[in-house]
Amino acid sequence: MFRYSLMQAPGTGPVKAGSLVVGNEILLGRTVDTNTVFLAENLLGKGIRLRRWVMVPDESGMICKELGIFMEDDYDLVVVSGGMGPTHDDITVEAVAKAISVPLVFHDGCFGRMMEKWRSRNPGKTLPDSSKKGLEKMALVPRDLEPIINENGMVEGLAGSVNDGRMMIFILPGVPREYRGLVCSEEFQGRLPSGHEKDVHIREVHFHGKESQMALFLSDLQKRFPEIDIGSYPQGPNSVIIRVTGYPDRVGPAADIVQEEVDRLHRSFPEGG
Ligand code: ATP
Ligand code: MG
Repeated sequence: MFRYSLMQAPGTGPVKAGSLVVGNEILLGRTVDTNTVFLAENLLGKGIRLRRWVMVPDESGMICKELGIFMEDDYDLVVVSGGMGPTHDDITVEAVAKAISVPLVFHDGCFGRMMEKWRSRNPGKTLPDSSKKGLEKMALVPRDLEPIINENGMVEGLAGSVNDGRMMIFILPGVPREYRGLVCSEEFQGRLPSGHEKDVHIREVHFHGKESQMALFLSDLQKRFPEIDIGSYPQGPNSVIIRVTGYPDRVGPAADIVQEEVDRLHRSFPEGG
């Protein structure tokens, strides 16, 4: 019997994509990581679902350790972000180089483009030594990675294939405007592994009642449709969103069944459960 599954062809599973966010300010609760929310939505549009989302402080050891786990788990795509700037606490690029065991190499093209940007922002001025040091630091690129032009800021993004060619890694600045611009760039999009989970669909059914009224029904339905995700998300005292995610061919029928049950419960308990 043919069964749908998240695997499209033998030996090729769904793309394993991860986000590794670097920044003390995120762990302090001062900054909300909206960048990864943007990434997740963008990838979903390409049929790629994020599988792991990790946040670490600006510490080389933590970055290396987490990247090591992504590589060991054979991730196809990891986006590392934050901590790419010119200051002492921006250690992400160096940590990535260490994790993938390659040296940092001075990239003339990248340095030249940053110099150009600086000159166009500061016409007629001479680049002070301290700023030059910052630009030189930002032109250091892990040997197997290439710069991606950042239209919205100084530091360039980086991209390359690592882990014996099995994993595409990106390093992006944390500033949201720059991060988003780079995610949408052709250089980023063109390097994405092709989504095996083509056309991942999401359907939501709103239930005005208690989660417990649907629990048994949803658990049985999940057994009937093991290849899709059926999630239940309470929104308030009498409000639940039931979200069905997976291939469209299976999401449609499963969501229809959920909708029928929700309609039945709404008729039986018009005031909620
Ligand atoms: P860069 O790589 O350019 O150094 P960074 O993350 O180290 O970036 P910060 O100075 O820490 O730079 O952050 C710059 C701005 O971006 C801050 O306003 C910060 O709140 C915001 N920011 C950083 N990371 C994120 C994130 N993951 N989601 C949303 N905003 C973020
Ligand atoms: Mg930071």
